[in-house]
Amino acid sequence: MYWKDKNPWTPELEERLITLAERGERYETIAAALGLNKNQVVGKAHRIGVASRRPGTPRARPPGPPVPRPKECQWPIGHPGQPGFRMCGKAAIWMKPYCPEHDALAHGRNLHDTATNPVVTGP
Ligand SMILES: [Zn+2]
Repeated sequence: MYWKDKNPWTPELEERLITLAERGERYETIAAALGLNKNQVVGKAHRIGVASRRPGTPRARPPGPPVPRPKECQWPIGHPGQPGFRMCGKAAIWMKPYCPEHDALAHGRNLHDTATNPVVTGP
């Protein structure tokens, strides 16, 4: 722990640490930004109590792929260009463009001949 022998912290560095920590930056990021060792940053943050100022900070959360949100059903209702045309808008199935009802419909339509299944709802 050689770095404990000399104190790298200037008031400016400390101020930047506080700013970055309160912004929610990770210790790795802060350390890189300040040109310091991560352990130095963690230790300092704990000493001056800046780490505890942010409740619920996710700790060591691996940066994974973003969790896809449930989308809205893209099933068209009515005819494009005509009044009343809209998308279904219900919560779509995970990783699918349609809600359960319309996914089943789409699936069923694919199994049969689409040409023999005209759905006319317009005027
Ligand atoms: Zn739908």
